[in-house]
Amino acid sequence: MRPARALIDLAALRHNYRLARTRHGASALAVVKANAYGHGAVRCARALAGEADGFAVAFLDEALELRAAGITAPILLLEGVFDALELADAVRHELWVVVHHEAQLRMIETTPLAMPLHIWLKVNSGMNRAGFVGADVAAAWQRLQASGKVREITLMTHFARADEPQVVSTAEQLECFEAATQGLAGTRSLANSAAILGWPRAHRDWARPGILLYGADPMPGEANGLQPVMTLESAVMAVREIEAGDALGYGGRFVAERRTRVGLVAMGYADGYPRSVPDGTPVAIDGQPGRLIGRASMDMLTVDLTDLPAAGIGSRVELWGRQVPVNRVATAAGTIAYELLCNVKRVRFSYQD
Ligand SMILES: *Cc1c(COP(=O)(O)O)cnc(C)c1O
Repeated sequence: MRPARALIDLAALRHNYRLARTRHGASALAVVKANAYGHGAVRCARALAGEADGFAVAFLDEALELRAAGITAPILLLEGVFDALELADAVRHELWVVVHHEAQLRMIETTPLAMPLHIWLKVNSGMNRAGFVGADVAAAWQRLQASGKVREITLMTHFARADEPQVVSTAEQLECFEAATQGLAGTRSLANSAAILGWPRAHRDWARPGILLYGADPMPGEANGLQPVMTLESAVMAVREIEAGDALGYGGRFVAERRTRVGLVAMGYADGYPRSVPDGTPVAIDGQPGRLIGRASMDMLTVDLTDLPAAGIGSRVELWGRQVPVNRVATAAGTIAYELLCNVKRVRFSYQD
């Protein structure tokens, strides 16, 4: 069997959830959108079901998958609904719904609903992507109350740069949120992962941890005690020696400076390993630090075994996980851990609990 697989450590997921909740000091919605950042939404939600205060997903279908799997905890739709039919479904499945723009507000006003909703009213405090601004926030809050279709309103906002502790923009967003929501009744939710760890001033009634649940620290360099949840691994399936001057792989990008033992690994960009990483990107080979050489191709990639004489066919290769932080590979690829984790596919998933 092809040895490429993603090992998912559900105990680590629970550890990270507890850490988020403790650091934040109030309730926390576990963000499991995008198939739990590539980890498997149903398996992750089940692993957290005993203790998570609720879950957050991007849109209705993601929530329905969890409901169908028996998840009964609250589930928030972070993008809200797209039409009146979805709104009716959201009511039927007791989902919590974000309202972030005028059309969604009108939908609530004009659609007959079987039961009142718990609405999360989104404030644009400076990210300028979604949400109501300034005096529109109070106006939207009033209209929701007046609609008679709302049993509870949570006021929320989202930070653009909470992972950069030095910049002033998060403090400005906080002020903007406070000004726009002053005097409005309702619980508050501000903190994503980075704000849970780095912005105690943003802690309110509900946190929304995403990436930190999966153990990829949004502020690497601090000792936050997160445990990586996914280990992406495979094995060496063939070994060859190339001579100094020989080129390796597509484009001949890597040219050997000395006699080089090359390990061929069953993992490629079709599995979600990024093609954009350079020669020298870290891997772990039988637990030893190693490096990628040559371009990653669709199904295979190549690693340097020259200084690892004991390694050979069958040697275990970790692409990221406990030994190789996914953040290091993301940096090498010019992206963020979120994107790498979400993109893992085709490999076998194996869950440990
Ligand atoms: C995805 C998302 C989160 C989680 O963000 P992380 O950086 O992964 O913690 C929180 N809130 C909203 C609105 C989101 O869309």
